[in-house]
Amino acid sequence: MPRILLIEDNPGDAVLIEELLKDVSTLSYNYHLTHVERVSDAIKVLAENNDIDVILSDITLPDSRGVETLDLLTEATSELPILFMTGTNDEALAIKALKQGAQDYLLKGQATGEVLSRSLQYAIERKKSQNEMEKIKAREIINLERIKSLDLEKKQLIELNRSKDEFVSLASHQLRTPATAVKQYLGMIMQGFAGNDIDPKINQLVGAAYQSNERQLSVIEELLKTAQLDAPKIKLTFERIDLTQLINQVIINQLPLIEARSQTITFDDAKSYFVNVDKNEIRLVLENLIENASKYSANHTIISVDIYTKTDKVNVEVSDQGVGIKTDDQKKIFDKFTRIDNEMSDTVSGTGLGLYWAKRILKLHKGTITVTSEPKKGSVFKLTLPHNEK
Ligand code: ADP
Repeated sequence: MPRILLIEDNPGDAVLIEELLKDVSTLSYNYHLTHVERVSDAIKVLAENNDIDVILSDITLPDSRGVETLDLLTEATSELPILFMTGTNDEALAIKALKQGAQDYLLKGQATGEVLSRSLQYAIERKKSQNEMEKIKAREIINLERIKSLDLEKKQLIELNRSKDEFVSLASHQLRTPATAVKQYLGMIMQGFAGNDIDPKINQLVGAAYQSNERQLSVIEELLKTAQLDAPKIKLTFERIDLTQLINQVIINQLPLIEARSQTITFDDAKSYFVNVDKNEIRLVLENLIENASKYSANHTIISVDIYTKTDKVNVEVSDQGVGIKTDDQKKIFDKFTRIDNEMSDTVSGTGLGLYWAKRILKLHKGTITVTSEPKKGSVFKLTLPHNEK
């Protein structure tokens, strides 16, 4: 049952409307009329009732006329359709109101019950779809605002990340110079530049300081590498090398560390395998894998390095009998700054950058790095690189 709020100060016209609506009302479709004579009264009714479906108003009322009436009513309720009734002498006013958002107007004396009823129904339906459209538009505006603010957040994060990389790079550059100088001075003392009759106790302390300083330098190197790797462009210098030979060199360099832990390392270097790589970068990857195999294993264990080809790839496996890595943690260890707590982590130092960096380097070589591991049994780190047989 559509509820109409009729605003009409002329009693004759009000009765006429009432009669017309009675004519078209049926048992199943019945208009309900609330009649007031002034806009101010209509506003009061609207404030008290929220079940009105449509407003039917005379264009000229004792307290307002035309667009002014429309403005007052829309201020009271923007969701309801408003229909004006007008005489021929003030039709221009009604047209103006139509342009400003009124749903329709009817000429007094010309509207039959049918016309009035149809206009009321159309006005209600049209206003409903207009309201829906407005809601959709409002939602679209909110979505657009959200996209804009996400875009801004993304830009800010990229900028923040860039400044962080710059900071890491700058800080590590600044740290490297004095740390390298310390290494040189300690090296000079150890080589006898300050005399050969140094107290053995002092010599021992200088040796320990030298080793700590080497660790410090390698941490700085890793930080520098990471800052470089996060930069948009990384410069790699590719050359065809024998990977077997490179592994041999790395093992020789790591031997003092491995032997200090009474560990053994095995590698069969009988066959050459050629790859096209940035030698320095791949050397650092291999160093990191072998160093990890040693530092995350107990004394007297065995590390084995194997090299072989499978399809068009050269595979290198570094296996240890160390603490191992839980399945859940195996995915995480390639993330930046990730160190997994294990029984050796308290005693060995690290940055959590080595494997992150290894993964990125391998990717740039169209290679892969993966791990299989069992806690307390050991780990196998496997890397693959495209084979360059020629
Ligand atoms: P770092 O050794 O400097 O902490 P890495 O990126 O090289 O950083 O390694 C990340 C983590 O992965 C280590 O902290 C360690 O928990 C785990 N991990 C790496 N290699 C091994 C290994 N061979 N055995 C057991 N855990 C390992």
